[in-house]
Amino acid sequence: MISQPDQINEVDVAIVGGGPSGSTVATLLKKYNPELSVMILEKAKFPREHVGESQLPGISAILDEMGVWDKVEAANFPVKVGASYTWGKGDEAWDFDFYPAEEFVDEPRPAKFEGQRRYTAFQVERDRYDEILLRHAEEMGTIVREETMVREVMVNGDRIDGLRLDSGEIIHARHYVDGSGHAAILRKALGVESEAPTHLRNVAFWDYWDNAKWAVEIGVGGTRVQVRSLPYGWMWFIPLGPSRASVGLICPSEYYKETGMSPKELYERAIKEQHEIRELLKDAKSTSGNNVLTTKNWSHLADRLVGENWWVCGEAAGFADPILAAGMTLAHGTSREVAYSILEVERGEHDPQWIKSMYDEKGRRNIRQHIRFAEYWYAANGRFTDLQEYCTKIAKDAGLKLSPQQAWRWLAQGGFTNQNIEQAGFGTFDIGSSKKIINQFSGRQSSFQITKLNEFKLNLKNAEEVYLGDFKNGRITPVMCYKRGESMLPMSGAWKTMVEILKNESDLETIYGMLSNRISDVAISGARGIGIFIYLQALEVMVNEGWVIGKHNKKRPLGNLDGGRLIRSDSESRESMKDAKGTIKFAFDKAPTE
Ligand SMILES: Cc1cc2nc3c(=O)[nH]c(=O)nc-3n(C[C@H](O)[C@H](O)[C@H](O)COP(=O)(O)OP(=O)(O)OC[C@H]3O[C@@H](n4cnc5c(N)ncnc54)[C@H](O)[C@@H]3O)c2cc1C
Repeated sequence: MISQPDQINEVDVAIVGGGPSGSTVATLLKKYNPELSVMILEKAKFPREHVGESQLPGISAILDEMGVWDKVEAANFPVKVGASYTWGKGDEAWDFDFYPAEEFVDEPRPAKFEGQRRYTAFQVERDRYDEILLRHAEEMGTIVREETMVREVMVNGDRIDGLRLDSGEIIHARHYVDGSGHAAILRKALGVESEAPTHLRNVAFWDYWDNAKWAVEIGVGGTRVQVRSLPYGWMWFIPLGPSRASVGLICPSEYYKETGMSPKELYERAIKEQHEIRELLKDAKSTSGNNVLTTKNWSHLADRLVGENWWVCGEAAGFADPILAAGMTLAHGTSREVAYSILEVERGEHDPQWIKSMYDEKGRRNIRQHIRFAEYWYAANGRFTDLQEYCTKIAKDAGLKLSPQQAWRWLAQGGFTNQNIEQAGFGTFDIGSSKKIINQFSGRQSSFQITKLNEFKLNLKNAEEVYLGDFKNGRITPVMCYKRGESMLPMSGAWKTMVEILKNESDLETIYGMLSNRISDVAISGARGIGIFIYLQALEVMVNEGWVIGKHNKKRPLGNLDGGRLIRSDSESRESMKDAKGTIKFAFDKAPTE
């Protein structure tokens, strides 16, 4: 271990918190500018326990950029290929795969971040994961001070003048980063409020189990997280190792209070009543001696994420709800952007105000979209039969109507084109998945607009040109972006490709052919469908937002755009897995019944 002098009390960047956010900011700062002195102040001694184990694939690319993917992979955490849900309408479970399970080939581990593994995520034991990341930040040259609590933030207007530690020592820096998670120590000291814009006031109860079964094994080390609804809440079952699992229950805090039950009683009742999880835990033992852990997890969004010499990222900036399993993705993502922003401010080549407002606007919009999506999930879950009032209230307060078209319009209010300058997205979800989820919850089909059209014409009329940032290789490069009203069309990634194609072609079949050629040169077989779909989703959003005018030419064929290949019922999924390329093993031949 590299020894760190406690005497250093003046650094370029001081980061409060050594969780995923703090380690991501520090590692990327040191990677791209080793000259910067960076210090993490962490109150705990690592490894320390933390809830939040199920990741999304977007994190994997950030781990790779940080140079830590191989270390995380070497820890042999289960590979998350997708998740299985009982949620919405209907009795059957449905699956959401990031990569088609039937295409997932057996591949020895540790593997590299390439091929199919670019599309998967990890399910991590947070004590081990967070420690790997913190040690990595340290190896990159970060001064890591554990068991070091920031006791006081010395605020001077919108500036921070220093951080007073428990010992009385004061740390001074040019930039201060709040990566302190739920504690949000800098944000609160600065008086930056955090709105709790929803009624998602839930409580969580969870425990860890040994000798638990996996519902499904996919290839080598791959599986699906299980999410199961109950009439009064939902449960997660996250495999964390060959036989270790995290199992939790989430329900509204009001409901919990009304039952008068203890956390342990309510948790045990839920396991008893959720037959699949009960079966997976049949031979398992609680590792805590049935000491059920508990926390409240209310969604929130900070009013500001940046100030004169401070930045807020990760959970300190905002949180939606565990149902989306997106907390860590937001933590890594916002932290990466903070690192990039500080690097650019230090270089002094761009207007710092441009950099700061971009971080603030994009970060807050992204968190808000997640909160919106979580509200939709709760409002639309027909299985919450004991929580009808709660669901109706969420929908009413949010102004949400549940028909597929109305729900889609409501979700789209935050905009799609300006989420990600490379491709169409809705928070961390793509447009196709979001749409499929709406169909799944409503039990009705709402198709893509572009399936009714086959001639497309670019419409850039009255658009002004503005600049957004492209965050790559440690640099923020301005990217020209068309702007009309609130809608943005960045000239990068899938957007740019579609604009270039549409400048010369209008016929759907020709466009599709051009996209297929482009994809077959670069993508592995399991990812080709995903690849084409990225472009078609961009086209859908461009039509939705008026950047493209679509027409139906009766003499030409229409497209059949099924973006939901990766979201399907359990029985469809099992059927297609009969011809799987790799090993598939289910815990039960059929999903167990009551
Ligand atoms: C019930 C529940 C379930 C969840 N499930 C998921 C999930 O399945 N998937 C997912 O992606 N996310 C999930 N999350 C969210 C996830 O846990 C967080 O998004 C993630 O931990 C945020 O990382 P962070 O680095 O911002 O904060 P943290 O991981 O909380 O790290 C903050 C660090 O700051 C330190 N600190 C705090 N105050 C001080 C101080 N004064 N001085 C020094 N150090 C300090 C703390 O000790 C801590 O180590 C869940 C959250 C909850 C509540």
